[in-house]
Amino acid sequence: MVVCCGRWQREEPEVQLSRTEPRPFSAPQQPTGRASKMTQISIPSPADFHVHLRQGQMATLVTPHVRKGGFSLAYIMPNLKPPVTTTAQALAYRAELEAIDPTVDYLMTLYLSPDLTPEEIVKAKEAGIVGVKSYPRGVTTNSDGGIESYEMYYPVFEAMQRVNMVLNLHGEVPSDAKTNTHILNAEPKFLTHLHSLHKAFPRLRIVLEHATTRAAVEAVKTCGPTVACTITAHHLELTVDDWAGQSFNFCKPVAKFPDDREALREVIREGHPRFFLGSDSAPHPVHSKSTSTPIQGCAAGIYTSPILLPLVAHFLESFDALDKLEGFVSTFGRRFYHRELTVENTHHVVMQKIGAHVVEEKYGADENSVVPFWAGKEISWQIVPN
Ligand SMILES: [Zn+2]
Repeated sequence: MVVCCGRWQREEPEVQLSRTEPRPFSAPQQPTGRASKMTQISIPSPADFHVHLRQGQMATLVTPHVRKGGFSLAYIMPNLKPPVTTTAQALAYRAELEAIDPTVDYLMTLYLSPDLTPEEIVKAKEAGIVGVKSYPRGVTTNSDGGIESYEMYYPVFEAMQRVNMVLNLHGEVPSDAKTNTHILNAEPKFLTHLHSLHKAFPRLRIVLEHATTRAAVEAVKTCGPTVACTITAHHLELTVDDWAGQSFNFCKPVAKFPDDREALREVIREGHPRFFLGSDSAPHPVHSKSTSTPIQGCAAGIYTSPILLPLVAHFLESFDALDKLEGFVSTFGRRFYHRELTVENTHHVVMQKIGAHVVEEKYGADENSVVPFWAGKEISWQIVPN
């Protein structure tokens, strides 16, 4: 039994999440002892449970970077132009991604909008679509069609709960001067919606995406086993000081205060099984990040896909959590999403500590190039080629 939203509820058997990380796939190269002494790590089939792969030329550039960054599963965001609101669109998008790189398992999502019906949810589930992403209106890239209130979607959520689909929440409320709502408190103010949804649909699996605050971590912890949370790599490093005046560190939700960052680090160090990696890797052409004007701000988004696994290892090591890497990037998320590994389908990614490795300044050419997070800085881990 767990306490949730001020009342007791039963844990759901289909999403039993042990606090003890099972290790069905041994990692023979991983030395025992203090994390800081590790020089080689083997991770079973890393999974990124929140990534933006875009369309057209940008998709061609960034889709192969999922595998390059060490990942074999990518949970794909639907905020394209136009947004992915139907099963047919999601399947066409998956085919587009598979044509670029067929070696990655792409889990597809729909964009929550008034067009989405309970009938479409049933159809989507039958077609293998995994989740539905909710964007509050206007808070991030391509969210103009986002939601303003959740009640009207309750029939959709009821259908999702029935067929066992996942609801992914961009957990921010829109800024509003009348209520003193702004980008620094938009996430804490959203948490009442998380609790309301969980209370109304206790069996619906919900993921609070890219948490950035201590309040969000604590809110998810108080919920039952059907509520999980993704954490990005960059939010393990950045605080407000890093993005104010530095457009390449600007993303939504913005990085918060040092104590908030510490809460993200603590929950990973703790090995909590409902907190796992969703990179929110979000490429934007370099000109949309670096050439803001008085009437045109810079795009929100940080790009981590091509360096993701070494970057996460680098950060976890920095706060003494390297021994939690496997749970954070593989087993915890896979278990929540019912994508657990078998011996047959497991592909181990081996990383070595190689001293300083400098991250590339950009990927792609000319105006379509993308600048990765940590560009020009050093990472101490590198993937060993197969
Ligand atoms: Zn995102």
